[in-house]
Amino acid sequence: MIQYNLKCECGKIFDSWFSSSSEFDLLSKKNLLKCIYCNSSAISKSVMAPNLTNKSNNNKSNKVSKKTKLEKDITTQLMHIRKYIEKNCENVGKNFSREARNIHYDKKSSKGIYGKATPEETSELIEEGIDVATIPWVDKLEN
Ligand SMILES: [Zn+2]
Repeated sequence: MIQYNLKCECGKIFDSWFSSSSEFDLLSKKNLLKCIYCNSSAISKSVMAPNLTNKSNNNKSNKVSKKTKLEKDITTQLMHIRKYIEKNCENVGKNFSREARNIHYDKKSSKGIYGKATPEETSELIEEGIDVATIPWVDKLEN
């Protein structure tokens, strides 16, 4: 299961679960994704950016320590996705949207990349027909 933040043209952002990124693409193509606020089908994936900023924070007490089994299972699945991406794709960091365009318009290159993009950048890429997937980027498991 993959959780996406979905962004509607009305500006609202909401969560939805999909069995895979291709399921999202399919539902999106068939206009079966509807905004829960205004029922528009102009829905795009929003970005859950990799959390790279809080390395040195000491707010651990704020974190919920009791996780349900489902949450743990999901986190484990997301860890597998993250590991797969880190192993198979190149981290381009904040250059993500530029690199994604380079790959899209230079058909010779087919390398996988990952990095950070704002929701605006992501929706621009999608509008240009560039295949972009947004996944929750989980921290490495500590327990
Ligand atoms: Zn809406």
